[in-house]
Amino acid sequence: MRVIAIDGPGGSGKSTVARALALRLGLPRLDTGAMYRAVALLALRNGVETDDESALAALAHEMDLTVGESVLLDGEDISQAIRTPEIDAAVSFVARQPRVREELVARQRAWAHLHGGGVVEGRDIATVVFPDADLKVYLTASEGERARRRASEQNAGDGSDSDAIAATRRAIARRDELDSSRTISPLTRSEEAVEIDSTGLSVEAVIEMIVGLL
Ligand code: C5P
Repeated sequence: MRVIAIDGPGGSGKSTVARALALRLGLPRLDTGAMYRAVALLALRNGVETDDESALAALAHEMDLTVGESVLLDGEDISQAIRTPEIDAAVSFVARQPRVREELVARQRAWAHLHGGGVVEGRDIATVVFPDADLKVYLTASEGERARRRASEQNAGDGSDSDAIAATRRAIARRDELDSSRTISPLTRSEEAVEIDSTGLSVEAVIEMIVGLL
């Protein structure tokens, strides 16, 4: 089983890089953030509080979720619905519940066994989910660059709206703070991970660096 772990904070370019890398190597890709987002969406829809660990764990356990190019929850395409400011605000609270993580980590490992490995992106892939990954990459970018990318993703614009960028910058900083400070599986760079700062780099340049490392 060959696993390439790509961790990093929000807006660091993980998804774009993971997608392009998977395509280049002919490997499947798993976006683990989408899994935490799906549980957050279920919680919001069902009126479950984001600190109700057992209710959240039950939602995570029972959901029928397929994460591929689209994200399907009980047959419904939720690819767009999980990328809203409401989900951004709620997801870190859901993701810090130990029993939710336990359930999703088990699903991530099962996915890798089923596919014989792949490119897996998230926050704790190198540290917790696949500590034996063949390659561990920690992707970063400056805060300004991350906010600009995220704002342009969310508005499908060119990322030049300065109010939107400022708001996104605050939201990302808050989520990073929550993700980095939680006690269980915090966002942290594995000592074995190669750190790549993608600020000012093209996707192709980052892919070349990773392929070189492989
Ligand atoms: O990667 P993305 O921004 O979609 O992740 C959404 C949220 O899911 C993160 O802010 C984090 O709280 C959580 N997450 C996590 N562990 C992962 C992937 C995502 O806790 N492996």
